[in-house]
Amino acid sequence: MGRIVMKFGGTSVADLDRIRAVSRLVETEVRAGHEVAVVVSAMSGETNRLVALVDALDADRIGDEDRHGGAIHDEYDSIVASGEQVTSGLLAIALRRRGIRARSWLGWQIPLRTDKAHSKARIAEIESSAIGPSLSAGNVAVVAGFQGVSDDGRISTLGRGGSDTSAVALAVALKADRCDIYTDVDGIYTTDPRIVPEARRLHRIAFEEMLELASLGAKVLQVRSVELAMNYNLPIRVLTSMADDGQPNPGTLVCHEDETMEERVVSGVAYSRDEAQITLLRLKDKPGMVAKVCKAMSDAGVIVDMIVQGISRSDNAANMTFTVGKRDLETALSALEKAKSDIGFEGIKHDSGVTKVSVVGIGMRSHTGVAQTMFEALAEKGINIEVIATSEIKISVLIDSEYTELAVRALHSAFELHAQTAPRVSAP
Ligand code: ADP
Ligand code: ASP
Ligand code: MG
Repeated sequence: MGRIVMKFGGTSVADLDRIRAVSRLVETEVRAGHEVAVVVSAMSGETNRLVALVDALDADRIGDEDRHGGAIHDEYDSIVASGEQVTSGLLAIALRRRGIRARSWLGWQIPLRTDKAHSKARIAEIESSAIGPSLSAGNVAVVAGFQGVSDDGRISTLGRGGSDTSAVALAVALKADRCDIYTDVDGIYTTDPRIVPEARRLHRIAFEEMLELASLGAKVLQVRSVELAMNYNLPIRVLTSMADDGQPNPGTLVCHEDETMEERVVSGVAYSRDEAQITLLRLKDKPGMVAKVCKAMSDAGVIVDMIVQGISRSDNAANMTFTVGKRDLETALSALEKAKSDIGFEGIKHDSGVTKVSVVGIGMRSHTGVAQTMFEALAEKGINIEVIATSEIKISVLIDSEYTELAVRALHSAFELHAQTAPRVSAP
């Protein structure tokens, strides 16, 4: 017996039959004697539909008019959060119809407090003084994921995929014994199984590796949820909601490195198409230039990711290439145009048809040769590398988006990720 948090994503609550199936999974845990808080996402496709409505109206603005009307992120949140309101109510009804006491909780009712960064708010605090006693009294809490209430009393949302973070944060606040994230795959795979059918489910993965994979594009868990779980040392189990046939459903445990057991150098391959590449042509080659470029970007609120500077030429001018999020490309370009004479460059080129492909593994800390294997595998397929970035446990390359699938598959097989690794022999 214990307290558990179960989270169900969009495909897991896609229609009434799926919601009924979820209610059966919840019932099993309740009948086993657990106190259960469930976090739900909106029905699959619903958040995209709501975002498209907002975008369509937002596009009506003419010229600078938006500056007078103001930003719309607060209203965006109020609209897109509604998807989760529907599923939390529906699941509460489905549970009651199975004879289980349940009620829905919206972000503001808990309250789950966030900062005012609408559309990408961060959780400040979750009060447990109402929901905690309700759970102890034997009620299932069905919590609308993704949403909270900002400190100015408005509805806020936690960024796309944010229900994962709602679940982990709630598990921490409620001192839950387990946090189970149910989704449409039966665990964390060596790469996105939609791209590589031979991808293999990992039994366990270290927080650090999962954090890198998520940051580098594997959208199976929201980055912030992994960060939170790591900071509070709360293991997360990722498992499928699609198998309610009583078969074992072990999923993947995301946990501390010491508990991962599997000996491997590379654990996974991730890719992100949300990238754009900018090249500044004939930038003056003198100290402080890169700093000026980065300052122009940070003043515009744009995060610079990979950076490479071309070899300096005899006339003291060099090209500098860097990447930004695709969504930030326009903002970045106009900020650079404004700062052109101050920074001192001759022209700008940009390309949003690029993908970042990365290999991740904590084994890279102690093994050499990963970069060589990676670059050779890409070269063999004739894939050109535009930019390279490395850290202790990852290597990323920027390539033409056209070759995304080819590159992911080539790397998956170059590191033999389809093959089962032998469990590490633990000390007696
Ligand atoms: P949910 O709606 O349950 O939150 P998501 O669509 O956000 O589910 O995440 C699950 C999807 O993540 C899978 O269907 C899969 O295509 C994708 N994915 C990407 N990388 C991986 C990976 N390494 N392991 C498992 N799934 C992955
Ligand atoms: N419904 C939200 C989204 O689609 C949050 C989530 O699913 O986690 O991004
Ligand atoms: Mg998700």
